Amino acid sequence: MTRSIARERIDRLHDLAREAARGGDDDLAREYVRLARRIAERNRLTLPKRFRRFTCDACDAYLIPGRNARVRTRAGHVVVTCDCGHQSRYPYGEA
Ligand SMILES: [Zn+2]
Repeated sequence: MTRSIARERIDRLHDLAREAARGGDDDLAREYVRLARRIAERNRLTLPKRFRRFTCDACDAYLIPGRNARVRTRAGHVVVTCDCGHQSRYPYGEA
């Protein structure tokens, strides 16, 4: 698999994960997230920023603020808390 094809697959899996999560199927969304992570690893790709923002590093959930994640801004940071309790912090303005 070439890296550009791998990137396209990751983008596609991101969209599928979002659709599944919006439809309430969190397990299916997780499968897509995991698959995308594996493709990134195998091809030594960095996951896109939007992928990292909307997935939980701990449980691979696709995060939808207000449904399975809470988002707070705090002292120059955006803090995203997944339902599993895992928190991610991003510099404000980058999120
Ligand atoms: Zn989580």
